[in-house]
Amino acid sequence: MSKLQANISGIIKSSVIDGPGNRIVIFFQECNLNCMYCHNSHTIGLCNLCGTCVDTCPTNSLKIDSENKRIIHNKNSCTRCDECIKVCPENSSPFYKQMSVEDIISEILEVKDFISGITVSGGEVMLHAPFLSLLFQEIKSHSGLKHLSILIDSNGNIEQKKWDSLLPLIDGVMLDIKAYSAKTHKQITGYSNEKILKSIEYLNDKNKLKELRFVLTPNYNNDESELREIAKIMKSVSPNVGKTLIKMRNHGIRKEFSFLREASNEEMNFAKDIFGQADIDILVI
Ligand code: SF4
Ligand code: SF4
Repeated sequence: MSKLQANISGIIKSSVIDGPGNRIVIFFQECNLNCMYCHNSHTIGLCNLCGTCVDTCPTNSLKIDSENKRIIHNKNSCTRCDECIKVCPENSSPFYKQMSVEDIISEILEVKDFISGITVSGGEVMLHAPFLSLLFQEIKSHSGLKHLSILIDSNGNIEQKKWDSLLPLIDGVMLDIKAYSAKTHKQITGYSNEKILKSIEYLNDKNKLKELRFVLTPNYNNDESELREIAKIMKSVSPNVGKTLIKMRNHGIRKEFSFLREASNEEMNFAKDIFGQADIDILVI
């Protein structure tokens, strides 16, 4: 098997909210957006061994291993207080670890009889496209795993050609649209939505778009003209693509974005009505 490794921030062995059925979910570290409402901001950056978390840990459970350029975490003394994550200046964490394709296959084999599929998520998982290609090829050629469905949970902010090697190996992609207006998108995520809009169109054309989600963020993407543009995009993809309107929750977001507020029932209904007027069957959560 390949020696290629990827930074993995976590693995959930059983999830019913990351695609259909019961799925193993593999979370990759690092993201190429910086959404204000990110609930997992410690998965955005990479650790640069600055040592801030080591000095902060109240139980001395962290140590820098300079030789191997990593942080050693003593799980026995750690109280999971999350102080290390809160103080990290890189939006990173001392907990993610490097794993090979072989390591991940072993994790999947442990639960293969209890799951219906595999979801890879992030961070932004498409930053690891070459690793994913090897992982998916291994899954599809393994007699005990090839029946499992494979879904990618992505922000779509990736060049079109990166999708090509993966599409024949997967069942679909679940993707978020944060805003239609380029200006609003930059306010919410820090980056342009140009590649995301192209990814939506491309994946839909290839019949690989499984779900399109929109996170309603009051004072940013909830005015009527913005909602009507989002509705046009939702309408432009196949009726078979699941559509979801998500209420932004401000629990667990970074302190500097604590000014964000959740939508009222009235605001959610206003958005829902606009999608309804465009004849879009949308799930509201
Ligand atoms: S996890 Fe963050 S705080 Fe800790 S050493 Fe790495 S960059 Fe520094
Ligand atoms: S979560 Fe664990 S390692 Fe991190 S600061 Fe708390 S005790 Fe230390």
